[in-house]
Amino acid sequence: MRALYVGRFQPYHRGHHAVITEVAAEVEELIICIGSSQRSHELDNPFTAGERYLMISKSLRDANILNVYIVPVLDVNRNAVWVSHVESLIPPVDVVYAHNPLTERLFKERGYETRVPPLFNRTEYSGSEIRRRILKNKDWESSVPDAVVAVIKEIEGVKRLKDLARTDTE
Ligand code: NAD
Repeated sequence: MRALYVGRFQPYHRGHHAVITEVAAEVEELIICIGSSQRSHELDNPFTAGERYLMISKSLRDANILNVYIVPVLDVNRNAVWVSHVESLIPPVDVVYAHNPLTERLFKERGYETRVPPLFNRTEYSGSEIRRRILKNKDWESSVPDAVVAVIKEIEGVKRLKDLARTDTE
């Protein structure tokens, strides 16, 4: 069985990683779509698709998870055609794992079996909370896999977020 999991991964965190670890163990192959791949250098979307790709692939390699394939996907401005847009980029999948209500609804309406994975420590393992902590100089490192800490440091992601916040308020 081949499954699909979609996220924005801004950044990839331990909640995503826990779901992917469980799903990858249940299925033969897992396709991960990096949504909103065109977005970067925004307060809510600071990281490029390539940077997010690195975060995910290095975290999976460290966890010895090898049956996962990553596909970046651009947004389209009509929700009704988004699933066919995703379908044009990925191999056929049998099931879609999604907790995001819009993602789940759009795939269900196209006839897909959808499964809702559990949330893991959503208070801390949340992209917006992690970005907030980065800006406030609070601990964010414990909410993401080690490889993500390394990628964010390599690309000077903390400084990038702080620069974006400054531009936004000036
Ligand atoms: P996200 O990175 O916030 O979350 C990805 C998944 O992880 C979601 O199912 C979310 O519920 C889950 N998750 C978050 N925290 C978790 C935790 N602590 N434990 C377990 N699971 C957790 O990404 P998202 O915003 O859900 O990504 C959806 C993507 O699909 C976006 O890029 C969006 O733009 C795209 N999309 C695009 C269109 C369009 O272009 N028209 C339509 C629908 C969706």
